[in-house]
Amino acid sequence: MTTEADPSRPGGDPASPEARRALELRAEITEHNRRYHQLDAPTVSDAEYDELVRELRAIEAAHPELVEADTPTGLVGAAPSATFAPVRHRVPMMSLDNAFSPEELAAWGERLERRLAEEPGERNGFACELKIDGVAISLRYEDGRLVQGATRGDGQTGEDVTANVATIADIPTELPPGAPRVLEVRGEVYMSRTAFEALQVTQQEENRVRLEAGRKPHPVASNPRNAAAGSLRQKDAAITARRELSMWCYQLGEVEGGPAFTSHVETLAQLRGWGFAVNPEHRLVDTAAEVAEFCARWQEHRHDLPYEIDGAVVKVDHLERREKLGSTARAPRWAIAYKFPPEERTTTLLGIEVSVGRTGRVTPFAVLEPVFVGGVTVSRATLHNEDQVRIKDVRVGDTVIVRRAGDVIPEVVGPVDPQDPDHLARPVWAFPRTCPSNRPVELVRPEGESDTRCPDPECPFQVAGAIEHFAGRGALDIEGFGSQRIRLLLDLGLLADVAGIFEIPWDRLAELRAEVGAWATAATAAAQERTGDPRARLDAVAEVDLARTRPADPAALSTDLVADLAADPALFKSTADGLRGLGDEAVAGLRAAIEGAKERPLANLLVGLNVRHLGPSGAQALALAFGDLGHIVEADVGAMATADGVGTVIAESVRAWFDDPDHRALVDRLVAAGVNTEGPEESSEPQVLLGKVIVVTGTLEGYTRDEAEAAITSRGGTSPGSVSKKTTAVVVGASPGASKVTKAESLGVPILDQAAFERLLETGELPG
Ligand code: NAD
Repeated sequence: MTTEADPSRPGGDPASPEARRALELRAEITEHNRRYHQLDAPTVSDAEYDELVRELRAIEAAHPELVEADTPTGLVGAAPSATFAPVRHRVPMMSLDNAFSPEELAAWGERLERRLAEEPGERNGFACELKIDGVAISLRYEDGRLVQGATRGDGQTGEDVTANVATIADIPTELPPGAPRVLEVRGEVYMSRTAFEALQVTQQEENRVRLEAGRKPHPVASNPRNAAAGSLRQKDAAITARRELSMWCYQLGEVEGGPAFTSHVETLAQLRGWGFAVNPEHRLVDTAAEVAEFCARWQEHRHDLPYEIDGAVVKVDHLERREKLGSTARAPRWAIAYKFPPEERTTTLLGIEVSVGRTGRVTPFAVLEPVFVGGVTVSRATLHNEDQVRIKDVRVGDTVIVRRAGDVIPEVVGPVDPQDPDHLARPVWAFPRTCPSNRPVELVRPEGESDTRCPDPECPFQVAGAIEHFAGRGALDIEGFGSQRIRLLLDLGLLADVAGIFEIPWDRLAELRAEVGAWATAATAAAQERTGDPRARLDAVAEVDLARTRPADPAALSTDLVADLAADPALFKSTADGLRGLGDEAVAGLRAAIEGAKERPLANLLVGLNVRHLGPSGAQALALAFGDLGHIVEADVGAMATADGVGTVIAESVRAWFDDPDHRALVDRLVAAGVNTEGPEESSEPQVLLGKVIVVTGTLEGYTRDEAEAAITSRGGTSPGSVSKKTTAVVVGASPGASKVTKAESLGVPILDQAAFERLLETGELPG
């Protein structure tokens, strides 16, 4: 007899690392299934969950002896919860196998082809559909009446949610005559983006009230899928009714009587005929290449839809062929879900800091353990304002959900588990009371406003931001004059405001470069001596080295500057590096760029002045209407407000800006420096958009919002912020405003993608 485990017996060697890991993964995945499917409160992102499942699958594939009967890789969903009455599905509700890359999708196609190789010349089409990110539901009709709605549960037994589904407007409660006596229709219940945004607003408002009353905020729905699941599985169907759910149908369950179908798309057409909502974006295609194209197209355009999708589903169209292919216990072989790359991940919140913008607005942002999401590595994400941090209730040390959808800026959704005792034990973040700059002026948050501001007009962050904006692309567009150089010149005291760009003392810059350069050489030598490493460089320089080599009688450096640099090796290094980059050639280039910027159109100068509410369209309108900076400076509100595209709000803001004596002095210095102050140059662009009104929503590749607007106005068009009957077309980029798209659709305004926008700029023509 042996005491050692016998690896050949079923279950394999339970002590092997693989067996232990498989056991761990099963427990973990089962718990995630319960939290996701039963509680609608997952604690990891889908991507992390999918990774765990893939790891378990890989172990099970390599060690078939470790596979257990109830392994989650072979199961659907999770057992139904006890909150609802159980419903036994007469035809099981399955899950889908996944492909996570075009290669995996192609491999599925090849497997299918091999399996169907013997089938003689029948049509072998693929129905391609969107994978709706919602909750699977089965509706049962008897004698034309809705008698039951059930969740998928574990595929065999679901939960009775009849009262809840009956509140969903998309779901017919009665069928037209001629429908089968028994009909089960399956599909996905989902929440549109607009409904989700409205729900978020309501929940945030409720939380604001709770916070004001000193109560704890409730968890806010983190994404439309969890919101849909949570809304549907309410004990009180009246809550479901308030949540604006929708449903797309794509599948039959049990059917008795009625027409016989041969193909999937034919079934979909009939479903629509019976009054069910069928997603219009499905396509019947013939080849694997077309399947791949469908998937790639929707991966790119997923944000153009008013609801969320997390992939595409590809199905064999011919029903007889499906029969032949059959299913595993978990999923049919005739379909595959092509999953898009994740847009949500979880990571650790390392800190919360604030930044001060050019307008003085103080914005909290999250410092994150870097995480790859939505195609980029994210290590920072805005938290918008003080209330948002409180409502999201994120605390330093939490595991948080980070979302980056399309090209929009990354967002921290909230802690993965707001009830987690560790989270609750962490201190609640407090907004700093003073500006984080070296001028610790007290911050203010005006009554009734959500933004906190730094009221200090000399705040170094605001000054730097204003100069960056002035030199940036939408304004004077000075090449080679980015944030690092601006900060360097500010730190060195060579620049203090936007007009100072034209007054930089270049000789003094050259002196500073020589002095700091000599100090850097001496300090590096000191660092080499101290560390015994002859290859040590500027990075190795420490405070002691700076103290030892501190210039005793600097020709160009002020005592203050010497003290600042000596106390901060990081500042010393960035200053020395920055100055080294400003050699004779670089300075000549920069001076030429600054000189050239004086010739920019008046509208760009106006944009550069950083006047609240004044964007490119308003600036263009003022320049056009007044033709000269001097006239604008003198114009009254009434005169300005009549300029096309300038309302009272902009006019009043411009007037107030020019009424400030400091601003007037600044303008005088700019004029003295020789900037162009005269009305619009004839645009060098062909005026192909004259009279056209083009609204832009979402992010376009290669354009900021201001640049897209400028591209339109420089060609004679206008680009207001909202859609109306007068709108010629709406250009929809990534993550568009759902309301603009819906409005355009309801008014029949043409919707253009990026490619059509580029063509429009070139030719002025709308597609089709
Ligand atoms: P799935 O979401 O990968 O795919 C199957 C489901 O897709 C179907 O049951 C159906 O409901 C849905 N679907 C949407 N559009 C469809 C269409 N046009 N045709 C057919 N079906 C369509 O698989 P699943 O079993 O529902 O759930 C597993 C997935 O759920 C995981 O991959 C993960 O993304 C997520 N999940 C997450 C957690 C978590 O903790 N974050 C836990 C469990 C599951």
